[in-house]
Amino acid sequence: MLNLASLCFPDREKSCFFCCPPIREPEADPLDDVKGRSEIFRQNRRHLQGNLAHPREIPGTSCWGLGFLDDREQQVGCLLHPLQNEGRELRHLTGYQFKCANALCREARVFAELNQDEKSFCLNLCRGMDSFTYSSRSNPLMRLLAWEKEMVALVAAEAKTGPRAGAGNKLAVFIENYGFLWQELDFRLDGYLATRIAGRKGFGFLRRHRAAVVRLRNGIIATLENYRFAGEEGGNNMRPCHTLAIPLSLSRLLKFGAGRWELPKGCEGQLMAIIENRLAGFCDQA
Ligand code: SF4
Ligand code: SF4
Repeated sequence: MLNLASLCFPDREKSCFFCCPPIREPEADPLDDVKGRSEIFRQNRRHLQGNLAHPREIPGTSCWGLGFLDDREQQVGCLLHPLQNEGRELRHLTGYQFKCANALCREARVFAELNQDEKSFCLNLCRGMDSFTYSSRSNPLMRLLAWEKEMVALVAAEAKTGPRAGAGNKLAVFIENYGFLWQELDFRLDGYLATRIAGRKGFGFLRRHRAAVVRLRNGIIATLENYRFAGEEGGNNMRPCHTLAIPLSLSRLLKFGAGRWELPKGCEGQLMAIIENRLAGFCDQA
């Protein structure tokens, strides 16, 4: 069975609280105002019994149920979760129980699909982090997981023998070797192409040719922006790209790169021929 909780609770020293569903503005990050948030988490833990006696619905930007889970103030999480209350579900007291119980971020889903070696590689990068740093989406692990399972597996495999593989500070080496994935590339635009290239030619090849990958991506976007696929004229044949039989990463390139949010049903073959043709040319010539 997949352990979906392990990215949320990697060990006893930290936890992730990034999603705490209703309480986060879209751009908010756990590293914003650590001091102020710490005081709120402390108070919420301290006043839990009083709050339970007089529960109130939460406004959408804060929650009295979110607090430090331990006296040492290391883990942050939901004080109303059944695991904190001998099986009793108390999240309904905030009015958001359904949303709270069903939220699972994309990164946690990707993490759950990794094998044990890959999971260990990921979590070893975060040794010594506190819950705020760990939860932040500036955490390099969260940035890597945004690239989806196949890329994470390629990175975890390369890291065993790649540049400075045996060096002490694993996080620093990781950022040095793989930071270009989020500093110079963009998982939404480059996820499909970069993963295919790394898979075919090796990660070292991708690292060396990353600037050329951006040019390749921009060229493909320019082609796709105005491309007329068979069956497009009818209109009622159009389907959202994420429902086509193509990888999620390719649907992201179509949407966020080429602005193609819908394409005709059955266009997959035509689309893949365009992409594969360009990819093959790139891998042969770069
Ligand atoms: S943001 Fe993701 S990893 Fe963090 S607690 Fe929520 S589901 Fe878990
Ligand atoms: S009830 Fe728990 S899970 Fe829901 S927002 Fe509050 S702290 Fe988060």
